[in-house]
Amino acid sequence: MCDYPGCTASGEYRAPKSRTLLDQYFWFCLDHVRAYNAKWDFYKGMSAGQIEAQLRSDTGWQRPTWPLGRLGARFLDEDALRDPLHVLATGRARAADRARAETPPDLREPLTTLGLDWPVTLDTVKTRYKELAKRHHPDANGGDRAAEERLKTINLAYAAVRTHLAAEPRLAAAG
Ligand SMILES: [Zn+2]
Repeated sequence: MCDYPGCTASGEYRAPKSRTLLDQYFWFCLDHVRAYNAKWDFYKGMSAGQIEAQLRSDTGWQRPTWPLGRLGARFLDEDALRDPLHVLATGRARAADRARAETPPDLREPLTTLGLDWPVTLDTVKTRYKELAKRHHPDANGGDRAAEERLKTINLAYAAVRTHLAAEPRLAAAG
């Protein structure tokens, strides 16, 4: 049975009783282990008894709705959980989404042109640019006008990314 006061769901997920009792556990249902997990920082410095008292007084826990992505997996027992809501196993996908969302708007098109994903380093961009410039150079395409146009687009994309990275040397160096 879930340790949350008044909850009758089965308590399948464990969470430490306090920061000082990391080997003693509450057993919660999925909703309540998540609520507890989300409140973990709030419980900092509280004893297990104080946390239990807080659980009892905290009506905000009733039937919570949890925004996806906000929940850490700190106390979720992954084996027991089997990830019914796909909030755990998607860390990599979420990282990719975040990277896409963080792409500077002025670089989205240039990076697509170069076939690169944010974040990029100057070296990565240079290497890719050289490959593309060689492949799409009109001389390598029998003087093809379309190749010439492609190369112009690639040049513009490269210039845009290079300018951006030069303006943010911290990012360029960190990559
Ligand atoms: Zn519960």
